[in-house]
This record gives sequence, structure tokens and C-alpha cells, in this order.
Amino acid sequence: MKVKKPRKRHLLLALLLAWLIAPEWLRVPVQGATARDWNQQSFWFEPWGRSGVHKGIDIFAPKGTPVLAPTYGLVLFRGEIDMGGKVVLMLGPKWRLHYFAHLDDYSALPGQPVLPGGRIGSVGDTGNARGKPPHLHYTILSLLPYPWRWDDSNQGWKKMFYLDPNEALGGAREAP
Ligand SMILES: [Zn+2]
Repeated sequence: MKVKKPRKRHLLLALLLAWLIAPEWLRVPVQGATARDWNQQSFWFEPWGRSGVHKGIDIFAPKGTPVLAPTYGLVLFRGEIDMGGKVVLMLGPKWRLHYFAHLDDYSALPGQPVLPGGRIGSVGDTGNARGKPPHLHYTILSLLPYPWRWDDSNQGWKKMFYLDPNEALGGAREAP
């Protein structure tokens, strides 16, 4: 009797696919922020320090403003790194990673499931944002490549993975 293994594989595949097509219902990850609080063109801005191009958007808000989960998912990591300062990484639907940097503090733990609007931390100026106006750096990274998004801009192949949060948020959709 060797029917068990393929069945398990089917179940795993079904789960992977379900997470791939799960709706995102994306919302602005800073409490009270609207599309006016970030530069609509800041994605892939260059030159941009050591990264070369800016792989996200910067949402400006007073220090301490709550940073809220833009969708549901699982917190994978939180910690302090060189450029990002205090950062949180979460896995959301469609196998996309959501990255939040320059936080003042965090309120989510690795392994913790989060719901849309769940508090992740607060806006700050840690890492290389030190001395600049407090803001949330927000990046969306797809684990699955979108080859048709590859263009001839600087590091353009990385656009297969880095999505424009401005576009993903619908340009002007307002936070609740
Ligand atoms: Zn940034």
C-alpha cells in the first residue's frame, strides 16, 4: 500500500496553491496614513545609497505612529540590522514577504500570526534613517518571480521579485 505519499503531496500542493491565490486585501501599513504620505514615484528611485535603487516606499509619519499589518500572515523575523535598523519581516498571502524598516519599536514576535491591521511596531528613524524625518520603509517581495515585470532599468531584473507598494496599494487608497 503506497497510496499515502502521493495524497500527502496533493495536500501540500493544494495548500501551496491556496496560499498563492489567497486574496491580499492590502491596506496602508501606517495608522492614519494616506497616499499623500509617500512619494508615488519613490519606488526604484536612484541613486539610492548602497542599495543602488530604492526597493520600496517611505511612508512618513510622526515617530511612534503605529505600524499595522497590511494584510494577514505570519511574522517571520524581527531584529536590528545595519541599514534597516529595527525591522520586521512577515509572510503574507500570494507568497509575498512584507518588510518594515526603521521602526522605533516592535510589538510582533516571530512565529506570530497577524491579522490585517494588527500592530507590528511603530514608526521611527532607526538604521540609516537616523537624522532623517521618521518614516516606515515598506517593501513587498514576491518569493515567486513575475518575469514579465523585468525591465531595462538599473537592477531591472529584480523587479521580478520586488513589487511597487504604491501600485499594490492602489495608488491612492486610504488607510482606515
Ligand atoms: Zn526607504
